[in-house]
Amino acid sequence: MVDENNLEKYVSEDGFDLCVMCEIKTEYKTDIAIEERSFYVDGAGQLCPKCYSGAEDISREYDYLSKYLNSFYKIR
Ligand SMILES: [Zn+2]
Repeated sequence: MVDENNLEKYVSEDGFDLCVMCEIKTEYKTDIAIEERSFYVDGAGQLCPKCYSGAEDISREYDYLSKYLNSFYKIR
């Protein structure tokens, strides 16, 4: 079930989406289609450019880590 109160938390008073990580106001109004946005993450929501680049770093590191662990477990 979608929590509407939680969704509304990430919208500024003047109708702009907030970054779901740092809650800064983004350049996108809530009625802008997802396909027309940058820095939007499926399943997470709108991010600001700063958090988006941070999230990419994290996923890159995680990918590296999981590959490392996989090779480690294969050896054993
Ligand atoms: Zn942010």
